[in-house]
Amino acid sequence: MRPEALNPLFAEVQTLEGVGPKVMKPLEKLGLTRVKDVAYHLPERFVSRHAIADLDAGSEGEQVIIALTPIEHRAPRPGSRGPYRVLAQDAVGNICALSWFGKAAYSAKKLLPVGERRWIAGRLDRYGDMLQIVHSDHIEVESAANMGRLSEPVYGLSEGLTQPKVASLVEQALARLPELPEWIEPSQFAHSGWPAWRDALVLAHQTTDEKARDRLAYDELLANSLALLLVKAEGRRRKGMALAGDGGLRAKLHLPFALTGAQVRSIAEIEGDMAQEAPMLRLLQGDVGAGKTVVALNAMLIAVEAGKQAALLAPTEILARQHYETLRKMLGPTGVEIALLTGRAKGRERESILIGLMDGSIQILVGTHAIFQDTVNYRDLGLVVIDEQHRFGVAQRLALAAKGRRAPHTLAMTATPIPRSLTLAQYGEMDVSRLDELPPGRQAIDTRVVPQERMDEVVAGVERHLASGQQAYWVCPMVREIDGAPDIADIAAAEARYAALKERFGDAVVLVHGQLRPEIKDAAMEQFASGKARLLVATTVIEVGVDVPTATLMVIEQAERFGLAQLHQLRGRVGRGAEKSTCLLLRGGALSETGRARLALMRETQDGFRIAEEDLELRGGGELLGTRQSGDAAFRIANLEQMQRLLPLAHADARLLIERDGGLNSPRGEAARRLLYLFERDWGVQLLRGG
Ligand code: ADP
Ligand code: MG
Repeated sequence: MRPEALNPLFAEVQTLEGVGPKVMKPLEKLGLTRVKDVAYHLPERFVSRHAIADLDAGSEGEQVIIALTPIEHRAPRPGSRGPYRVLAQDAVGNICALSWFGKAAYSAKKLLPVGERRWIAGRLDRYGDMLQIVHSDHIEVESAANMGRLSEPVYGLSEGLTQPKVASLVEQALARLPELPEWIEPSQFAHSGWPAWRDALVLAHQTTDEKARDRLAYDELLANSLALLLVKAEGRRRKGMALAGDGGLRAKLHLPFALTGAQVRSIAEIEGDMAQEAPMLRLLQGDVGAGKTVVALNAMLIAVEAGKQAALLAPTEILARQHYETLRKMLGPTGVEIALLTGRAKGRERESILIGLMDGSIQILVGTHAIFQDTVNYRDLGLVVIDEQHRFGVAQRLALAAKGRRAPHTLAMTATPIPRSLTLAQYGEMDVSRLDELPPGRQAIDTRVVPQERMDEVVAGVERHLASGQQAYWVCPMVREIDGAPDIADIAAAEARYAALKERFGDAVVLVHGQLRPEIKDAAMEQFASGKARLLVATTVIEVGVDVPTATLMVIEQAERFGLAQLHQLRGRVGRGAEKSTCLLLRGGALSETGRARLALMRETQDGFRIAEEDLELRGGGELLGTRQSGDAAFRIANLEQMQRLLPLAHADARLLIERDGGLNSPRGEAARRLLYLFERDWGVQLLRGG
């Protein structure tokens, strides 16, 4: 049960003043549903502004506060995507434009009556030969106290939210923070000079204070280490089953290739683990295309040879199907019964699978999370394989592990190359096998960086490529343009690109993105995989695991917007067959130093582990604030640099707490339990009940 002291933090965000149904949606989008989420929604950065008397005193790119008088409102022409503009005059008669895109214009109309002076805060930009402020952060009648602030937090927003709105919610959330007893080890706390928890949160919203941020990051890392160590301890406590196969089924596999040394070694490690009674908890880490599937197949066959069942959990419907097909083909000569179960199996089909699992006639099950619903019962589950482990919460993994009478062995697989220094944070509870050797004969993917302006040439290149009988991917960063935000108005929309390419290539083009209905998505994937469709336009949904060896060209639009790890995953979709493959990274005009370095690295190497290490270097401490990685919700506060620096300390302290207190029952342990709730790792706490 959650400690009572945390109740104010877990109150719904609706209990804050000013949260109606309209802002709920964007808040949910940002994951801000509880008061604590708002309190932990740290500023992405701070702006320093200075007040200027007139526009002559300001320059382009500067954050300013200035008194302006609106003289004219100009609505965009109907059907145009241009902004709503308010022309305004400063004290000496200079004119500048206040611009608003999309729905944001409504507030501008209300807040900027012609002829009435207003204080405006925002960034001066150039617009033709005039200065402009796009989406000003504040409009006040009088120069308000908060506008005078030298340094002001800038929060991550989502459409429908404004900076003042979020700031007001944060202020209310901070006012509700309870006093909590300290959980950090006393000498570590004294030595660090860190503020207490509550002060740290307040400070982190007001300043760039490093100590405050370090403390909050440390808390998160401590919570994570505690939870992982609890899982590990629990795994040791549960009885598993020693499984030894006789190799009979494995001998019947007719693989069209010889296993690599790394594959042989990993299979041996897995076999060794499975032969022990303690349940295996092993991570198979291997770059895209390293050949994890066949390793998983061998592991599953060990279980089947020992008279048990095996289940393979895939993160998406598409991948589940693909695994099922691949495995079914490879299993052909062995006579092993394999079935596919996804959320879409209904009625009779589902019924017969459930029966087959219960009577043991199905020996291997492949599927999505549907395979561990309560209604699914196995006769004797000996092994669970989880593909693309980072997509699944540990809680789900535990639910699955709880299925057998005895804990099944677990093999998790990931293609995310994590720097060695960080494996502890992500997978602290697991033993690791690394597939650090690609199958022989892989050709390097010819990777080029091309300016976005040369789009025509790129499209012509795609045309030649398709005409030669090959297939291609075209990846865009977003599904559709988001109304209103100027800095993202230029994000390539997959839908728009799809429409444009369809005009050129007709039915040879299909579209896949996360907002399509699953049936439609699968149908499009199916068309592409079968070769009927030649060009697949997609968002990053194709990132993980999709395997179409005849696709040999990958175009990534606005490549600078993707993380290195993501680019690497995307590029890994090509270079899977015998043909030479190409990857075109289209880049926008304004590239940061880091952006340039990242794309250069992509061109230079294909080694995922090296990319991961250098990614870490490149990000380093530079991007100190707001490093919450998209799609990877594991850490919301700690950035990579903090992880490297603070994780060893946090991990050691977590161990101390658990090993010395045998399960967090000391006063400091009790205090630390709260962290598991605060950082949503309470699956760790649930394990404490038994112990
Ligand atoms: P991963 O899941 O690690 O990204 P896959 O298991 O999908 O990689 O394997 C990628 C491709 O490499 C598949 O087409 C597979 O048949 C092939 N492959 C796997 N192991 C070998 C090997 N030892 N030699 C040659 N090809 C291999
Ligand atoms: Mg795979």
